[in-house]
Amino acid sequence: MSVNTDKLIVVTGAGGFIGGNLVADLRRRGYAKLRAVDIKPIDSWYQHFDDVENLSLDLNLKQHCDIAAQGAYEIYNLAANMGGMGFIEDNKALCMLSVLINTHMLQAAVKSGAGRFFFSSSACVYNADRQKTFTAPSLKEADAYPALCEDGYGWEKLFSERMCRHFSEDFGLHTRVARFHNVYGPWGTWYGGREKAPAAICRKVIEAKLSGACEIEIWGSGNQTRSFMYIDDCVRGVDLIMHSEIKVPINLGSSEAVTINQLVDLAEDIAGVKLKRVYKLDAPKGVNGRNSDNTIIKDYLGWEPNTLLRNGLEATYRWIYQQCLAHKNGETGVVRELAATAT
Ligand code: NAD
Repeated sequence: MSVNTDKLIVVTGAGGFIGGNLVADLRRRGYAKLRAVDIKPIDSWYQHFDDVENLSLDLNLKQHCDIAAQGAYEIYNLAANMGGMGFIEDNKALCMLSVLINTHMLQAAVKSGAGRFFFSSSACVYNADRQKTFTAPSLKEADAYPALCEDGYGWEKLFSERMCRHFSEDFGLHTRVARFHNVYGPWGTWYGGREKAPAAICRKVIEAKLSGACEIEIWGSGNQTRSFMYIDDCVRGVDLIMHSEIKVPINLGSSEAVTINQLVDLAEDIAGVKLKRVYKLDAPKGVNGRNSDNTIIKDYLGWEPNTLLRNGLEATYRWIYQQCLAHKNGETGVVRELAATAT
């Protein structure tokens, strides 16, 4: 499908991690009319650009969704209340309330006559019974049914996937749905309780290194298995899926599975430290094993997320290192001017 870089593209959740990186990527690729929307005040977005129309709107509200979607050619709906396991286990109702964002954005997309609508679903839709072993079962798209999702967050995602399907069937809206598997990288949440494992582990290793502490706390036994997708692969996959003919929910994730202990090994290696591991067995840890089966995405696109975890983690570590240093020196918010090197 050829794309038109002069038409209005709307990204919701643009003040967050993936939305901010998506706007940055669309800009780099020459999209001239971009509208970025988030509930947060604009100066607290991870990334914002003066040549983009930046709007601070609460997309739980239907009338705000109408403003966001007005005149849109394509809509990337990434806004959600979300975080790592600690956040989603303790905030199930808040996570489910994202259904308001997704319902109202779908309605607004139909009303505005948008050409395409992208919805960011999650690997949390998959049936928990298939994720009980530590040997990282590769989850294929069909494994979402019969449904036994992550309570709260996962059920909302599955419901909203189905709304996309029915808005497509009943109202002719062209929807595309990707199930993201753990995304990580620079310009995302790295502290405060919503951060996910790669950012949390980088931060803990950096804090230990900067303070001279010799221990690191790990949630669970460290044997849980996951795959982690670097942000550049995520934004590339979103673009490919949005402009494909893939009309059903599809995995967008790396198939390089590691244990949390192996993730810590990598972070320690990048930092050049070795820490004593203290396992917090009663902390939220999610399912035992999860990996992305990429058979279908490879069939459709001849591509799958392929950044090696080691390489992506190095870039993430460098970015978080700069943030930690700045915070230690009393700066608040996101540090935008990064030094060339940092270890
Ligand atoms: P994020 O928390 O960094 O970004 C989400 C943004 O949505 C935030 O900036 C938040 O302020 C905004 N938002 C929340 N409620 C809003 C509202 N009412 N109105 C407007 N904006 C609102 O999260 P992210 O990692 O960038 O995730 C983006 C999308 O991808 C989400 O839908 C998330 O569920 C999905 N996802 C992410 C991952 C991951 O590993 N990061 C994995 C699976 C799915």
